[in-house]
Amino acid sequence: MANRKLKIVAAVGLVLGAVYVAARVFVPPMLEARILKPVPHAPYKVSDEAKALHSGLTVMDWHADALLWNRDLTQPSDRGYVTLPSMQAGNMALQMFTTVTKVPWKIELRDNPSDSDMITAVSVISGWPVASWNSLTERALYQALKLNDAVARSEGGMMWVRNQKELQALMAARAKAGHGGPIGVLLGAEGGHPLEGDLMNLDRLYAAGFRMIGLTHFFDNEIGGSLHGQSGAGLSDFGHGVIHRMDDLGMIIDVAHASEQSVRDTLALTTRPVVISHTGLRGTCKSDRNLPDDLVQTIAAKGGLIAIGMWQDAVCGTDPDTIAATIAYGVRLAGPDHIALGSDWDGAVPEAVSPADLPALTDALLRQGLDHATIAKVMGGNSAAFLARWLPME
Ligand SMILES: [Zn+2]
Repeated sequence: MANRKLKIVAAVGLVLGAVYVAARVFVPPMLEARILKPVPHAPYKVSDEAKALHSGLTVMDWHADALLWNRDLTQPSDRGYVTLPSMQAGNMALQMFTTVTKVPWKIELRDNPSDSDMITAVSVISGWPVASWNSLTERALYQALKLNDAVARSEGGMMWVRNQKELQALMAARAKAGHGGPIGVLLGAEGGHPLEGDLMNLDRLYAAGFRMIGLTHFFDNEIGGSLHGQSGAGLSDFGHGVIHRMDDLGMIIDVAHASEQSVRDTLALTTRPVVISHTGLRGTCKSDRNLPDDLVQTIAAKGGLIAIGMWQDAVCGTDPDTIAATIAYGVRLAGPDHIALGSDWDGAVPEAVSPADLPALTDALLRQGLDHATIAKVMGGNSAAFLARWLPME
């Protein structure tokens, strides 16, 4: 009898195992092909002036969720935007990769509960290490390993930028290479929930290469209130501790997705300027998700960067001209030194400008009437200057 039971258990186990393996192979590519489908558009025409200008720019973007997906970053991909070849095609110098570790099943602009999580299913179906199935810290660390692995396999095509020394090494290598130099990669966390309420985990993430942490994502967490959470709260006591420790370590604070109160609390507390890694501006695209004019000016006045998104809800469009109009509005509002790019590539949002399409954005900025020096700043000059000042020395 016991023998028979054992056989049944073994058979059920075998079937479940086979189902898991089949799901593991077939489901992620199918889902990703649907979720990461770009908005179709006619090929962008780029003027000779823009081509010449763009080829001399230092281009940086502050937000891409590519590490969430099953993709070899060193190879071309038809599912999603950010790969080494696409970044090279767009003459990018630097990309911030942000880890996504917990997202509600049904994402609303407001009032998301903090107990719903879709990434548990993603981690299981994508075959992430078992330790990451129920640990947000482990999910962030696993995605850090993925980036590290891509850098190692890129044969010098991608270089870590974790401190000023590595930034200088990248810039020197790019200058030496002339065209097609290496691309610097930075690591950040979308939301501070991977800290799991423990400051020790901040040091673990720092050791793994994280240099930017967002306070919150789509729900309130131990650090404080999210723009999309239920509390509307500002920073918690733990959040205060996180800000102080990040200041000590020289980590960049990202206020994207934070409640307005959390942003104001952070600006009052930190001794360093902050970055908002992906946002729209309410002045050109009315949405609660987008920054009001006064906060744009406050972040800029403290030396921070406002990185403009490229997705539908951020700028009320997806084409280069709409994105460029938002950037131009930001420049008028905050001056030329505080606006940057924050695409949210591979963030499962409708987009039509890929890394390879960035010359078309430069062209659209020319059509906005921005001069060459200002375009150089917003496309990445401001970002490179920020990193040169605010990354840890070594
Ligand atoms: Zn986001």
